[in-house]
Amino acid sequence: MNTDPVELTAQLIRCPSVTPEEGGAIQLLHGLLQDAGFTCTRVDRNGIANLYARWGTEGPVLGFNGHTDVVPTGDPATWQHDPFGAAIVDGCMYGRGACDMKSGVAAFAAAAIDHVAGTPPGSVVLAITGDEEGDGVDGTAAILDWMQQTGERLDACIVGEPTCPTKMGEMIKIGRRGSMTVWITAQGRQGHSAYPQNARNPIHALIALLDTLIAFDLDDASDHFEPTSVQVTGFDTGNTANNVVPATSKAMLNIRFNDAHTSAGLLDWIDAAVADVTAQTGVTFTLETKVSGESFVTPPGPLSRMIQDAVAAETGVTPVLSTSGGTSDARFIRSHCPVVEVGLVGQSMHQADEHVRVDDIQTLKAIYSHILQDFAP
Ligand SMILES: [Zn+2]
Repeated sequence: MNTDPVELTAQLIRCPSVTPEEGGAIQLLHGLLQDAGFTCTRVDRNGIANLYARWGTEGPVLGFNGHTDVVPTGDPATWQHDPFGAAIVDGCMYGRGACDMKSGVAAFAAAAIDHVAGTPPGSVVLAITGDEEGDGVDGTAAILDWMQQTGERLDACIVGEPTCPTKMGEMIKIGRRGSMTVWITAQGRQGHSAYPQNARNPIHALIALLDTLIAFDLDDASDHFEPTSVQVTGFDTGNTANNVVPATSKAMLNIRFNDAHTSAGLLDWIDAAVADVTAQTGVTFTLETKVSGESFVTPPGPLSRMIQDAVAAETGVTPVLSTSGGTSDARFIRSHCPVVEVGLVGQSMHQADEHVRVDDIQTLKAIYSHILQDFAP
């Protein structure tokens, strides 16, 4: 059997599955995997379509996690190619989801379909979600809840997000930094800028607070992580009067943190800095927080070694083990089983004219086939 992952990628790109729309993508995989002998269960929640497809009843169970939802196209005029057309030009396929990550899903599905045709030992699971680019609450999290209820277990899981910065094989991910956003509102007292003694300037206090936070050296890089990064991503007062000290000012912080921290610990650190600035200035602060995920790492071991060997065998490149980049659904899976991310070059993710090298899709299928083979030899 030789299932074509390129044709399957094209078919998936032609499904307009912008979150939360299913767009036909989950249905397409459902039909294909069912025909190949997988037991398929839709694990939909709150209008999000998710698919759990399992072949085999024995251990060990290798899982694959991916998503078929995509981010919006943005202004279509910025695209030279139809975002849902899957045109191939000069060896690249164009379309929304071409690299993030319909190609990854297609490569694994094609590898898995061919693999199970040989009635191998063990089981293979595909957990495909339609809510990765959105809030993520009804995608992989919903599948994991359902697995808990039904007693489904994975021994290890691969996530097929793009992991390579510039060329195939150079990087796999064994963890991710945590991510949290903090919205800060400083409340002072409005007044005439010529009489600052009668006002309490929230902007000055907010600048002092932000300066303290960004200047603080939270940690150094650790064994598997870059240093924690605190970035001011917004600063907004909305004041148009040049002679008025406004009453309030707002800022937004995004923190990408390594395994030296938890979101709760960082919030304590911010609270302490807030208390200091309030004591000095009289300006008070309110904080709103959203934690997208805590940091995590699957320490290098048999799973990452097996995947490194498979990548090296198929690409000639031994991938580095990294925890860089944004969050992914691996943050949910890590509490279920060891999880490693291995996928394509991610350069054009979320951009206009998102694209993938057709050769890379074939290479990724070969890597996944190699992993399937080595996982349960
Ligand atoms: Zn993705």
